[in-house]
Amino acid sequence: MSEQTQQTQTQSPSQAPSQAAGAQSQTRRRYYARPRVCFFCVERIEKIDYKNVEILRRFLSEDAKIRGRKQTGVCAKHQRQLARAIKRARYLALLPYQTEVRLR
Ligand SMILES: [Zn+2]
Repeated sequence: MSEQTQQTQTQSPSQAPSQAAGAQSQTRRRYYARPRVCFFCVERIEKIDYKNVEILRRFLSEDAKIRGRKQTGVCAKHQRQLARAIKRARYLALLPYQTEVRLR
């Protein structure tokens, strides 16, 4: 018989957004549009060639880091190969270890 009156009191009245002076950061979720499926699976690439720099480069971030799977959508199997291929390519100076170090 104990009635718990839970009223949603956290309903703040929506203020009219007519004043857009202070631009609030609405771009919180900034994500790369990632493909649903693994690029290599789609292309039927069994072995990732470390000499194929054009492709490898797609999976590097701006500062030449290897992009994570969350960003690229590459499957686990291929991600491993990819990482290895990229590292090998780096060793052979086909890919950079690092792009421009920012000097101030
Ligand atoms: Zn794959």
